[in-house]
Amino acid sequence: MPAVAAAISPSPPPVAEATASPTPLPEPSPSPTATERYPITTLEAVPPCAVRDVPTAKPYYSDWASTIVDSTYSVGADYAPPDLVGADEAGLSSYFQVRSIMIPDLQALADAAWAAGAPLAIDSAYRSYDTQVWTFWYWVSELGYETAIQSSARPGHSEHQLGLAIDFKASGGPDPWDYYNFATDSPTGQWLAANAWKYGFLMSYPLGQSAKTCYGFEPWHYRYVGRDEAAAIHASGLTTREWMWQHQPNPEPQGPRPWPSPVLAS
Ligand SMILES: [Zn+2]
Repeated sequence: MPAVAAAISPSPPPVAEATASPTPLPEPSPSPTATERYPITTLEAVPPCAVRDVPTAKPYYSDWASTIVDSTYSVGADYAPPDLVGADEAGLSSYFQVRSIMIPDLQALADAAWAAGAPLAIDSAYRSYDTQVWTFWYWVSELGYETAIQSSARPGHSEHQLGLAIDFKASGGPDPWDYYNFATDSPTGQWLAANAWKYGFLMSYPLGQSAKTCYGFEPWHYRYVGRDEAAAIHASGLTTREWMWQHQPNPEPQGPRPWPSPVLAS
């Protein structure tokens, strides 16, 4: 179906033909801010946390800073970023994989945390669709479906499948969920809550925001969005899900659409 293929795999814009009379070069414009690159196109409130399977509106690997996955929006089963690398490239454990685009900022985050006396380690990072199948159904067997759905993402709906989410822990410490509140009871959790945004990482599921984020409080779960977006979201006071919802066009696809093919758009 060529029309659909064109819609989900846009071809690059045509290159302008050379003209006989050269036109003056445009003045260089300053780098666009995050808000300029992702202008607010809707002021609708973030949608309720329905349990649905809707293809996310930003499915390309190059959309990494704005791909929404939640209880409704999914990247599908075949989403597996092509640039996964071991976290040892940022001086952390090679057991965990993350997208290569975050390595410089992850290294800077880990170095700054260490220097501040709050050394960090990774408890979980990239999880494939198949791993998330196992993870979700493990929690269903432990907690029952209705409870599991509030703390574990269904396959295709996890930020961990994006290769952008990291569950942090204190280096040498227990699992972060063993604290009453990792964000206040652990020096590492405290430091992350105050400083991670400066390095491009945001806590996806803050305390008291579950109606907006669709999940309970997870003070260990951070998503990388890049420093510009993280600063903008931090300044907005919104959760990451709300901010992304307000800054992407047509977040709800109109009518039936095939599952997106998560190819590289650039
Ligand atoms: Zn997590």
